[in-house]
Amino acid sequence: MNPNISVYDSLRREKVAFEPINSPFVGMYVCGPTVYGEPHLGHARSAITFDLVFRFLKYSGYKVRYVRNITDVGHLENDGDDGDDKIAKRARLEQLEPMEVAQEYTNSYHVMMDRLFVKRPSIEPRASGHIIEQIEMIQKIIDAGLAYESNGSVYFDVLKYNENEPYGELSGRILEDLIAHAGEERRSLEGKEEKKNSFDFALWKKASPEHIMRWNSPWSIGFPGWHIECSAMSAKYLGEQFDIHGGGMDLLFPHHECEIAQSKASNHVHPAKYWLHNNMITINGQKMGKSLGNAINLSQFFTGDHPLLKKAYAPLTIRFFMLQAHYRSTLDFSNEALEAAEKGLMKMINGIRTAKSLTYTEQELKVDDELNAEIKKATEAVIEGMSNDFNSAKSIAELYNLLKYINSIKAGIISYAELNKDTFDSLLTTFIQFNEEVLGLSDDHINNDDLFIPMVEAWMDTYREARAEKNFALVDLIRTKFKSMNLNIKDAKQGSDWGYQE
Ligand code: ZN
Repeated sequence: MNPNISVYDSLRREKVAFEPINSPFVGMYVCGPTVYGEPHLGHARSAITFDLVFRFLKYSGYKVRYVRNITDVGHLENDGDDGDDKIAKRARLEQLEPMEVAQEYTNSYHVMMDRLFVKRPSIEPRASGHIIEQIEMIQKIIDAGLAYESNGSVYFDVLKYNENEPYGELSGRILEDLIAHAGEERRSLEGKEEKKNSFDFALWKKASPEHIMRWNSPWSIGFPGWHIECSAMSAKYLGEQFDIHGGGMDLLFPHHECEIAQSKASNHVHPAKYWLHNNMITINGQKMGKSLGNAINLSQFFTGDHPLLKKAYAPLTIRFFMLQAHYRSTLDFSNEALEAAEKGLMKMINGIRTAKSLTYTEQELKVDDELNAEIKKATEAVIEGMSNDFNSAKSIAELYNLLKYINSIKAGIISYAELNKDTFDSLLTTFIQFNEEVLGLSDDHINNDDLFIPMVEAWMDTYREARAEKNFALVDLIRTKFKSMNLNIKDAKQGSDWGYQE
């Protein structure tokens, strides 16, 4: 187990040592998608961030149970308590069963995340399959005197809760400000409000006649509020207290703030030991949004079919681009940045191919101690990057540093005689495993075609024969063919080999 991992906890607002409640087991809950639309970059950033955390913790020896939910019970417009159910709205428009809409977008979410090489979570609970657990939790909160029923709906009593527990501890929102704001709202909503205070949030909503997704409950035929599903499902699969709760920065308030309040109100404990939030994405320096015309779906990135895109980008390029930034930094998408990421990715993939082609040859050693120590330090730096709050940007920079040694060995600039076998092994193992297991980058992932590499290798055999026979017409033909596939052929002393164009 790697004992040196530190994480930035949004609740304490500082970096702290990562010490799981019941090591080597780690429980991680991440808010998954609301399935009412095509997956976009925001979905990808959250999924890739926590995929990275999941992969790195496993690489570090932990046994991780990763739970990521699907919100399929219908979502209110503007993520508030009022307004229309988004799934139901489309279902009505297109005469579909609401679950058909939810299933369609769940499927496309899965397809897109698979293409981005995001590993599926250990458990993927659906909110619609956990209505009973949500009702039970709401009842516990009512029994604790911290929620009230009003006209068939149930609301969380924020003021009452705040008498004993600080509401706003995660987001830093001060209740006084919320109260002041609520005063203004109340004046404009006089008489229409079922809630005691506008900042009280819904645990259960009575369904209006046009609301199609509905379930029985002790209070009314209706549907659960958005926040309660995550509290109920995380407790069910990870226990009342677990290690990591993750999600996008936009979920910090109100969603995660409300989750904390609900869990404390019903289970009397803080649900998660560490709160992790990934930052947002901008496009050409602008916030992403449908009204701005810059909301690009993932499938549009993969086909290039959007006015803002110069060309199509491979899913692995999108993944690599995201990994090149620390998850807590904002990330700006532009064609230039993606093209640079593409080059960087090809360099890394060529590096993996080179590393795999090397074999340590026993010979009379003339060990260069200084060089061995230098390589050992560089190897450790790769792990240190990710150990420091999952800084993949730092680890990638350190992997490029390892690549210099790998290329020098390949070119014969560093000889095997200078290296201890241990140094060589850990250099190669770290480089290959870190790329493949932690970052999810591999040669196979580029082509998505099992026959691609065998086909290229067969062409290479022909190329080598043609070159030996001085059949230059054929040599040129194969070189041109490779170029059209964005591949390069390099002729070196040790023979000819191919690589991806960087
Ligand atoms: Zn959630």
